[in-house]
Amino acid sequence: MIYDTKISIAIKCDDGGYRLYRISLFQLEALNKIKLIKGAKINKDKELEISIKCPICDNLHFYKFKLFDEEESITIRGCVSSGSPIIIVGKDELVNEYISVNNSIERYIYAML
Ligand SMILES: [Zn+2]
Repeated sequence: MIYDTKISIAIKCDDGGYRLYRISLFQLEALNKIKLIKGAKINKDKELEISIKCPICDNLHFYKFKLFDEEESITIRGCVSSGSPIIIVGKDELVNEYISVNNSIERYIYAML
């Protein structure tokens, strides 16, 4: 088995679309350069902790992601006040698939308004 040391992180932006970041597990501090992220680190339990400024309610949300969990290859976390997803972390192909489906749904909704 080839162990993938890259993860993909999709973050919902103010414009309603997702932006995709592909990051090495060894360079997660690079996440701190992303505008909406207000702090990212790995804790002692090997979980990724992220504080993110919510594009929906404008509050700061805090999430933890298990990085080495074989069962869970994609994790979706949403805004606590609206329930709408704002961050997706996981294996590249799954995150890609999720945002390609959801970006086209949102474009469709905009077209209907
Ligand atoms: Zn929120």
